[in-house]
Amino acid sequence: MVELSTVKPEEFIPGWEMVIGLEVHCELKTQTKLFCGCRNTFGAEPNTNVCPVCLGLPGSLPVINEKAVELAIRIGLSLNCEIIESIFHRKNYFYPDMPKDYQISQYERAINENGFLDLPITGKQVRIERAHIEEDTGKSTHLGGEGGRIHGATHSLVDYNRAGIPLVEIVSAPDLRSSDEAREYVAELRSILLSCGASDGKMEEGSLRVDANVSVRRSGSDQFGTRCEIKNLNSLRSLTRAIAYEARRQVELIESGGAVIQQTRHFNEDQGITSAMRSKEEAYDYRYFPEPDLVPLGFTSEQIEEIRSHIGMLPAQRRQRLLGFFEASPTESTYDQVVTAVSLSLDDLVVAAIESGADPRLALARATNEIAGEIERIDSVSSTNFAALVKLESEGKLSATQAKKVLSQMLETGSSPLEIAKSLGFEALDESATEEFLDQVISNSPSEWERFKLGEDQLSGFFVGQVMKLSRGKADGKVVTGLLQAKRAI
Ligand code: ADP
Ligand code: MG
Ligand code: ZN
Repeated sequence: MVELSTVKPEEFIPGWEMVIGLEVHCELKTQTKLFCGCRNTFGAEPNTNVCPVCLGLPGSLPVINEKAVELAIRIGLSLNCEIIESIFHRKNYFYPDMPKDYQISQYERAINENGFLDLPITGKQVRIERAHIEEDTGKSTHLGGEGGRIHGATHSLVDYNRAGIPLVEIVSAPDLRSSDEAREYVAELRSILLSCGASDGKMEEGSLRVDANVSVRRSGSDQFGTRCEIKNLNSLRSLTRAIAYEARRQVELIESGGAVIQQTRHFNEDQGITSAMRSKEEAYDYRYFPEPDLVPLGFTSEQIEEIRSHIGMLPAQRRQRLLGFFEASPTESTYDQVVTAVSLSLDDLVVAAIESGADPRLALARATNEIAGEIERIDSVSSTNFAALVKLESEGKLSATQAKKVLSQMLETGSSPLEIAKSLGFEALDESATEEFLDQVISNSPSEWERFKLGEDQLSGFFVGQVMKLSRGKADGKVVTGLLQAKRAI
């Protein structure tokens, strides 16, 4: 879920600035792998989705997956990139989870180049250097050591199901200046990947993985410092924690007379620290050369427009659609809720509720406050049930407290709001019953009532609270407020 409590640029160590560029790997939502017909699924028995091509057996030849290329172009178009005539390269290195001993990737001419992404909250534009196609590697699991690391492990297992899964790697320019911005960038990018239909963006399943390049420099400097690359961050929380730690480490190192060495580093979740894995490889270490078994990829503008026509509504348009239900200049908090709703893909639910007559503000609030906290259960709430709940609340048939309780049970059981309200004994009070409670409160608190009548408006909250207490949450706050105004006017 989206957390927004991290370091802002102006809150970093005074006199210093962070510089961050992100490399995001996303797995494409294809039926099959990038160069063979093996299935692209998550969680299958190890080494069951494999064949001579993705196992790198001698004599096997890659055949490009058309759907993967189409999805890669959707990503490029959604990120405002130019679509380039591209070629594949071999990136040579040895690792047990990569049986060919080279990875087929795009190096010099990537399919998508020179795009940008606009951050929704800060409004900053982040340049995208390129978004290229490559194949994923297999997955190693190291056992017997500490925290799953290879050091100290007694043995290692390797699963090639992931080998050859199509990836697009999206490389940003070093335009980000705080961990907050990095988080906002990844959240928005993830939302774009989901919206254009290219990826499921599941960070917890590793289908979206982030490498963060971090350097620091003195405020006002126009030179970049030496960077470190933190590998494989798989949640927004790890991303911000790792960046904040790493930037601080670099400043402390420099201030104590040391120098940052360009390195690849690992983030340890438990300790919240980064540590060196290896010194950074240079491009020449990989002995890149053009892949002789694949031809260049080129497209006509008709083909590109055809692909563009399959891209759904992107997050910016989805935010506009939702904002359209609010007044011309929405408050900052409404805007933030709209951003959250879209980023959690809750906007269809909210729009459906509003279109069937629910109050927009209430629908948005229930989605971004109550549902967002239990987003993993979202599938149990149908849009009809959500709409019905919000309507019950806007019509005053459920108080806010009751509506929240009902929604929480809807998330758990998937039942309809009416059923749940009945089973919980929530029959909202009608106005006359509410008035009886209010009269009782007024007669119990004569001096508060005098002061309220004389103009102490803030006491309204006191009366609403007392009526709620007396009615055990069954009264509707809005009804109480209305009654209070009416009675004061007499
Ligand atoms: P490499 O070829 O080593 O991967 P790139 O030039 O492709 O290096 O850059 C990789 C990533 O590092 C990009 O996201 C880029 O924005 C980022 N980056 C480059 N220089 C810096 C720097 N000084 N500080 C932070 N990030 C940087
Ligand atoms: Mg790189
Ligand atoms: Zn295969």
